[in-house]
Amino acid sequence: MRLIDSHAHLQASAFDADRGEVFAAARRAGIERLLVPGWDAGSSAAALGLAMEFDGIDAAAGIHPHDASTATPADWETVVRLAADPRVVAIGETGLDFDRMHAPAEAQLANLRRHLRLALDTGKPAILHCRSAVGRRDAQDMLIAEMRAAGFGAAAARGVFGDRPPAVLHSFSGPVDYAAAALDMGLAIAFGGLVFRKGEEASAEVAALVPTERLLIETDSPYLAPPGVPRNSATAERASGVAGTAAPLTSDGTAGFRGRRNSPEWVRITAEWLAERRGATPDSIGEGLVPAYDATFRRPTT
Ligand SMILES: [Zn+2]
Repeated sequence: MRLIDSHAHLQASAFDADRGEVFAAARRAGIERLLVPGWDAGSSAAALGLAMEFDGIDAAAGIHPHDASTATPADWETVVRLAADPRVVAIGETGLDFDRMHAPAEAQLANLRRHLRLALDTGKPAILHCRSAVGRRDAQDMLIAEMRAAGFGAAAARGVFGDRPPAVLHSFSGPVDYAAAALDMGLAIAFGGLVFRKGEEASAEVAALVPTERLLIETDSPYLAPPGVPRNSATAERASGVAGTAAPLTSDGTAGFRGRRNSPEWVRITAEWLAERRGATPDSIGEGLVPAYDATFRRPTT
């Protein structure tokens, strides 16, 4: 089965002991493209390092909403500098998180806005994390409004991106009409282990709506292990005790199945879920993923 993982934090300390083996396992599982996003200046630089080290890895540079108020001007300068490298194929991850509120909303908004501008300036899509407070949709509604204000879905973004998606909704979470608004602006949507969680039932409906050429799949490793990741799998064993102690970086560090480190090879579980929702075979889903990835992220040609 052909696979991609459009969002895996392989630079996280959870992989320090066995990063090369994890990447080899991803290759054996059929993963042909793997995108490593940063969450702050250091992890963005590390993502580029991995893209230089491993054939098949691409990097993204950005500052996560959790880090929006602690990032310094020098950190932002680093992100801007990294974004100019051809191996950095996207801007992120960034976005809004009103669930855990690790940074005040104003700081998150200012951080989001500079990333959206950088995406338009570089022609590299923004990778967007978006989580609302429990039972609400405040972050999703604000994200769509901010993107419209920045020119996404209008001439500003179309002039830069043409038919390519100008942004990706990473680890999709939210109501159907939010997905529709994002698709209307030309965005790509990536599904991950979050779809298996209670409260995320709308994702099953959204999974059937996304056009093949804008459908991505991801793990958000080391987080969000989907059900079915064996507790004693080779990777989990090597990482025993690691999950939950990794650097806090993104949504749902504690979500998924406790004590289980997610890794790119498990993207297969979400691919099978996706195939079922779309009335397709996993293999036929797989055939669409690499072209969708390549249509979204402009990889350097060697
Ligand atoms: Zn992430």
